[in-house]
Amino acid sequence: MEAIRDIESRSYIDGKWVEGEDGTFEVLNPATGEVLHSVQQVSAAQVGVAIAAARRAFATWSKRSPLQRAQYMKRIATLVRRDAERLARVVVLEQGKTIREARGEVAGTAEFFDYFAEFARRIQGEILPSDFAGEQIWIQRVALGVVGAIIPWNYPSVLVARKVAPAMIAGDTVVLKPHEMTPLSAQEMARIFDEAGVPAGVINIVNGSGARVGEAITRSPDLDLLSMTGSVPTGKRIMAAAASNLTPVSLELGGKAPFIVMADGDLDLAVRSAATSRFMNCGQVCICNERTLVQRNVYDAFVERFVAATRQLKVGMPLDEQTDIGPKVSRQELDKVDALVEEAIGMGAQVAYGGGRPASAPSAGGYWYNPTVLTGLSADMPIMRKEIFGPVVPIMPFDTLDEALALSNTSRYGLSAYLFTNDMRAIMRTVNELEFGEVYVNRVGPESLQGFHGGYGDSGVGGDDGTHGLEAYLRKKTVYLNYSGAATVPVIEPR
Ligand code: NAD
Repeated sequence: MEAIRDIESRSYIDGKWVEGEDGTFEVLNPATGEVLHSVQQVSAAQVGVAIAAARRAFATWSKRSPLQRAQYMKRIATLVRRDAERLARVVVLEQGKTIREARGEVAGTAEFFDYFAEFARRIQGEILPSDFAGEQIWIQRVALGVVGAIIPWNYPSVLVARKVAPAMIAGDTVVLKPHEMTPLSAQEMARIFDEAGVPAGVINIVNGSGARVGEAITRSPDLDLLSMTGSVPTGKRIMAAAASNLTPVSLELGGKAPFIVMADGDLDLAVRSAATSRFMNCGQVCICNERTLVQRNVYDAFVERFVAATRQLKVGMPLDEQTDIGPKVSRQELDKVDALVEEAIGMGAQVAYGGGRPASAPSAGGYWYNPTVLTGLSADMPIMRKEIFGPVVPIMPFDTLDEALALSNTSRYGLSAYLFTNDMRAIMRTVNELEFGEVYVNRVGPESLQGFHGGYGDSGVGGDDGTHGLEAYLRKKTVYLNYSGAATVPVIEPR
């Protein structure tokens, strides 16, 4: 618990640690079910104070040059790397992913600040020819304003960076709410923003539940963007609330990634990749392999090798360097996965491996679930349609690529999809016909900083990362400049 005890329990508003006015909530360790820490919840009025502070800070922050803003971001990246091991342990303790994965997450946190700092000299405009001589038209990209950011629990460190870094370089200011189950990584980031000397009000971290603090952010009429990552129902609620203020939204929601394996490809690579893509972060990733579709003539071989690969995985305490799969994040999330599996079994699915909670769990009180392989499925089973978000793989055979593409596209989600084949025609057909925002061919995720992470359909609106993600944090201003010394368009002449 060494990394936890000294973490702030107050919220970071206007450059100060402020006591929450709405009680406290507990943060649990998913590996043990024990209380790690308690954090103070802010009131709706304090959310208003944070947004007002961000608005005031915007006036000066947006006027600094991008290069000046980038200096703060580079300092943040340096401090994240200095504290990397501590930050990784905090992620493990509050969220339950393995320490090896958490180190990767924290490295990504630093990289987001480095990457978006590179845009200091790249936020460009356009010069357009005018219809009239002696005129210049240009479109410039300018800072947007105050961003309300709401993030989930599955990547509590890197998702702070994914929202804050593009806002900082754009000249925006932020009020961010972490998930109430995993606020400690964001608290640590606030400590780092403070140490990096980020001016007061530029980044505010407010803590509390979605129903209270999240709603208070969402209802504010003084935001210029609501950028949220989380579930579909919450995304819809946020979009509805934002509509009444005409606040633009960027929503990164759930996924149901198909993982298509064609018979011609490298089966071993496909097996290892499918397992990695399912079991990373205990299956709690929006881009995870949620349904594996395997061409029938290699189906039995695939299932056999997949089960063998799954058997190798060590479920264990997440701080143990040897552990491959940690606990689920919460009792509620565990029960959700269990219920989906039980329902599938009730409808005729077979358990090829695992199923249920481990007989001898790595610790009492933790939220453990066995890595599980299901077969004997049909496309209409809820487990083939709903997001599982756990260490459970349904594997289903198909005969033709047509069938695999049709099965994939039946989902209302459209975030990530995977294809394993060496057949160029199959690759190009899949790329053209899959209705997903992100297609991985012969590799697993995660997505890259320079890509564009955004889903179709229920997977969201807008997206994050890269040049296209940055666009959401900027707005455009068109300037018509007449330097001719005379009117270039007709004006009312005095009679
Ligand atoms: P969630 O929707 O329960 O919570 C997300 C955030 O919204 C939390 O901070 C929560 O407190 C807040 N919230 C809840 N109710 C709210 C309300 N009424 N008003 C405002 N805010 C509210 O989601 P979760 O369980 O934390 O995250 C899991 C989901 O996130 C999965 O569906 C997963 O696929 C998705 N996800 C998507 C991406 C992506 O990039 N597309 C990345 C990670 C996770």
